[in-house]
Amino acid sequence: MTASVCTSCGAMKIGALTRCTKCKFEASTHIERAKALLLTDHHLDRAGLAAASAAILSGAGVQYDEDKVAELAASIANAPVPSGIGIVMLSVGFLVALGMVGLMLVLLIRWGVSLAG
Ligand SMILES: [Zn+2]
Repeated sequence: MTASVCTSCGAMKIGALTRCTKCKFEASTHIERAKALLLTDHHLDRAGLAAASAAILSGAGVQYDEDKVAELAASIANAPVPSGIGIVMLSVGFLVALGMVGLMLVLLIRWGVSLAG
């Protein structure tokens, strides 16, 4: 569970890239996603999150570290997180399928042996 602050309205929410339940904002560009990721408990402590939330609520806005935003945006652009998870899930699914096929072959062979015997 990732605690984060909505970059649009300052509300606290769960997950950096989830749609805000309060203002319906959802980060869509690489820059927006990078900023959303910076306003999470991965990058800020509780006090930092509260300060970011207060800054957005007051209308002052958050002073983002532009270098970090650019760096994160680049890594998001080069290696999207969802497809990375997709590859892992695909590998696990492939291994499970392979195991099932192996089990079926063993059962078939045993069935064949019992028929022959
Ligand atoms: Zn919001």
